Amino acid sequence: MDNVEYKIYIDDVIRRVEKARLKVSEYHIVKIVAVSKYSTAQDIEKLYQIGQRAFGENKVQDLKTKAVELEELPLEWHFIGNLQKNKINNLLDINPTLFHALDSLELAHELQKKLETRDMTLDALLQINSAKEESKHGFMPEIAKEAYEEIKKECPNINLKGVMSIGAHTEDKDIIKKSFETTYEIYKQLDGATICSMGMSGDFELAIECGSNMVRLGSIMFNK
Ligand SMILES: *Cc1c(COP(=O)(O)O)cnc(C)c1O
Repeated sequence: MDNVEYKIYIDDVIRRVEKARLKVSEYHIVKIVAVSKYSTAQDIEKLYQIGQRAFGENKVQDLKTKAVELEELPLEWHFIGNLQKNKINNLLDINPTLFHALDSLELAHELQKKLETRDMTLDALLQINSAKEESKHGFMPEIAKEAYEEIKKECPNINLKGVMSIGAHTEDKDIIKKSFETTYEIYKQLDGATICSMGMSGDFELAIECGSNMVRLGSIMFNK
C-alpha cells in the first residue's frame, strides 16, 4: 500500500475505535498503541508519517533494536510482553513510556531494586489474568487489588497507573466480555488508576465498550 491507501486504511480503524468509545461517552478517550512485533522499522515509520506515535513490543530485544533504529523519531515505546528478570536492565536502558505487564510481586521487587540503583522511575500497569487461564501471566482477580496496593507501598520507584489484561482466549463473546468486565471492575476500585489497557485486533470494540481506554492493536494496524 502507498501512504494514501494506508491512511485510508488506518482511518477505518480509527473510525471503529471512535464508534465504540462514543457508545460509552463522548468524554471517553481511547489511546491506540500500535503493536509492531510482527513489523519492521520501515512499517513503523510509515505509521508514524500518518500520525501514530505510540508503539508496543513484547520482546525486550526487539524493542531495543527498533527503538535504536528509530531514535530520531519522537516515538513513545510501550513494553507489553512478559518481562524476565534477566532482561530488566535492557528494558530500563530504553526508558519505556509504559510497562504493561507487571505480573508478580517478585518482579516488582526486582524492578524496584534496579530502578533505585539507577535513580529512575517506571510507569507500569498491573497485569490481570482475568479469565484465569493457565497459559497467561498476571495476577488472579481476587488478589489483584491487594497486590496493587502492596506494590504501591513497597516499590516507590514504580508508578502504578492502572491495569492490563488480555481478553479470554475463546470464540465465545460472552466469556470475552466477562473477562473485560472483571478487569474493569478491579480498575475502578484502584486508587488513582487512570489506564485500563485491554483490547487487541480481534476484540478491541468490545473491550472499549467494557471501559478500556487503551487498546493494543497489532495485526489490524499493520495490515498483517
Ligand atoms: C501481540 C499482542 C497484541 C496485539 O495483538 P493483535 O491481535 O495483533 O492486535 C496485544 N497485546 C499483547 C500483550 C500482545 O502480545
